Amino acid sequence: MERIKMTTPLVEMDGDEMTRILWKMIKDDLILPFVDLKSEYYDLGLEHRNETNDQVTVDASNATKKYGVAVKCATITPNAARMDEYHLKEMWKSPNGTIRAMLDGTVFRAPIVVKGIEPNVRTWKKPITIARHAYGDVYKATEMKIPAAGKVELVYTKEDGTEERSLIHNFTGAGVVQGQHNICASIESFARSCFEYALSTKQDLWFSSKDTISKSYDHTFKDVFQEIFDAEYKEKFEASGIEYFYTLIDDAVARVMKSEGGFIWACKNYDGDVMSDMISSAFGSLAMMTSVLVSPHGYFEYEAAHGTVQRHYYKHLKGEKTSTNSVATIFAWSGALRKRGELDGLPELVKFADDLEKACLGTIENGVMTGDLARITTIPNPTTVDSEGFIKAIRKTLEENL
Ligand code: NAP
Ligand code: MG
Repeated sequence: MERIKMTTPLVEMDGDEMTRILWKMIKDDLILPFVDLKSEYYDLGLEHRNETNDQVTVDASNATKKYGVAVKCATITPNAARMDEYHLKEMWKSPNGTIRAMLDGTVFRAPIVVKGIEPNVRTWKKPITIARHAYGDVYKATEMKIPAAGKVELVYTKEDGTEERSLIHNFTGAGVVQGQHNICASIESFARSCFEYALSTKQDLWFSSKDTISKSYDHTFKDVFQEIFDAEYKEKFEASGIEYFYTLIDDAVARVMKSEGGFIWACKNYDGDVMSDMISSAFGSLAMMTSVLVSPHGYFEYEAAHGTVQRHYYKHLKGEKTSTNSVATIFAWSGALRKRGELDGLPELVKFADDLEKACLGTIENGVMTGDLARITTIPNPTTVDSEGFIKAIRKTLEENL
């Protein structure tokens, strides 16, 4: 069989632990036999990040700016335990944080809905897409431990040297402080990405924050969304028959639980981080959630929403069988290949991406799945396979369909 040709390289970011094992299997069994893969490879595995003083993450982000489309494997965000485990020179920052800070934009996360895996929330009939702002807030915060009594203030030094101050707290004993920021340009592009994504997928858009408590910070987000909507999108939304509305995050959470799905829920950075885990788990499995970073400059970075599945990796290292679900990582590949195909005018590549996704869903619907899904499926007598067996089963379905 002639392999599908590509014209522009895909930026490939390898990662850590169990997902790194899956990454190689996916490439060897599901991509390389069908696609004459052109990729620029960056090893974001923690060892290599440490060797390069994390320069590799910066290089990979710059390559994404150059070529426009990237696919990323899950990576370890180091903590104290990882410092010892990997003998790190420094507690390197989260690669996703670095990439998002460089590309800006919004992360859209949507559950992969498949027959036989029913959501825990009975009313949910359609996927709920989380649009997570990918810049700033607690992810770019400066923190300080306050050892003893003293005054902590916010100080804004203007370009002319004059200062504006605001008291945070007069400490009478030890405590902690945190300084967060965001940038209006980033909030504006967040809003535009969400409005554009809602139009392109013909889904309602909800946005929520805590503006009642955070009267300057969160309220700015609310105002920016409303101004851009009124000025640029109101008519387009009406013409498409879709709706935008803002509500307090508490109210949004309550409404989401009673909804039937089929909309985009725009969230600030932290809310999106946490709520996407809740949405994906309630739709079935963390491993059935896609994630794409859409930058306002037109760059796309595809990944799985879950982490490196550390617990399974340690089993794998002991030589035990694992049953790790590779669907979200495969969908990262198919998403990136499809986008590359669309941008480069390669319909065969787009079709391959569709076929690969259909093969994943078809395999599960035929009753062959990993343990995480077998535990919750409504399909009677499912066949539980190991990590490798699942990828082989998808390969078989794919070949039968082609
Ligand atoms: P995790 O890798 O998402 O896994 C948490 C648990 O969820 C697993 O132990 C497993 O449950 C289940 N799970 C997740 N993905 C699965 C899959 N594909 N198939 C089957 N089960 C799956 O989160 P973590 O263990 O808290 O984090 C591990 C590392 O990932 C950390 O170092 C963290 O920094 C990193 N991380 C990276 C990203 C990213 O790069 N985007 C995101 C989050 C976390 P059972 O053990 O019950 O089977
Ligand atoms: Mg999270």
